[in-house]
Amino acid sequence: MIGAVDIGGTKIAVGIVDDRGVVLSKMETPTQGERGYADGLARIAAMLRDVVRQAGAEISGIGIGSTGWVYPFTGEFGDVDFLPAWKGCNPVKDLERAFGVRAALENDGDAAALGEAGWGAGRGKQRLIYVTVGTGIGGGIILDGELYRGVDRSHPEVGHHVIDASGPECTCGFRGCWEALATGPAMAAWYKSNAGASGDEKLGAKEIFQLAQRGDACARRAVERETFYLGLGLANLIGLFVPEMIVLGGSVMKSARLEDLRGVIAQGCRFVPWEKTALALASLGEDANLIGAARVWHYRFEVRTERVSTA
Ligand SMILES: [Zn+2]
Repeated sequence: MIGAVDIGGTKIAVGIVDDRGVVLSKMETPTQGERGYADGLARIAAMLRDVVRQAGAEISGIGIGSTGWVYPFTGEFGDVDFLPAWKGCNPVKDLERAFGVRAALENDGDAAALGEAGWGAGRGKQRLIYVTVGTGIGGGIILDGELYRGVDRSHPEVGHHVIDASGPECTCGFRGCWEALATGPAMAAWYKSNAGASGDEKLGAKEIFQLAQRGDACARRAVERETFYLGLGLANLIGLFVPEMIVLGGSVMKSARLEDLRGVIAQGCRFVPWEKTALALASLGEDANLIGAARVWHYRFEVRTERVSTA
């Protein structure tokens, strides 16, 4: 049993995950980064003790997935938008000390990629990209069975490749990133500004997809635009990596149709065997990040150790 900790912008979830990737118990709390690191750590530790009690099991390790910029191999937090007071703090060391087990940390996109590759839709795939499309676009890249890391073991941001340089401003400094064009809020903002008087301010991606099905002309255009930008970003990933599979998760993917995305990809990509890249929906469901966090521990201390010792 692994204690799993998923630290996101709005909530922190904690759970117990068995060695098949099944969540046995879980709890969550609002992130509230303004309460500081010691407060956040204390809440995580208290929830971990509670979920251990609920599951009636000992934990043999702790896996952590977190939003933003973290240093997986020191356990330290870097500049995380939602958790400025956590910079330089080290939940890996602190939780190891508190629970007497080893802990491992990854970016949450990488954690979810490891989860889908280990226990989900991408099981057994050696070249896999995981993409989540919701309020942002994030993900992780697995090449030859290993989590891809950049310089200084940094996490690449698939959501910030530029799709349209004349597009809307992005938080990263450029305009027209994939994340600025194809997230749920980006779709909702476009619909709102194009639907005129009929535009309902509270409509999200899900409702716009539903309106399109009912024949709303502007919603149909919003869906076409969303499909085009989502497909373009996927085509870019296929052109750059030609992975065996791209696993797609996140709230927007509950509505978008894979065959329509393939239709966009088929418009280009003629210099790579794009047909061989499977598109699949993430299969770990609502708990994907929590399950991914647990998988981080397995990947660090079991899977990788085996690979190195048999190499
Ligand atoms: Zn960007």
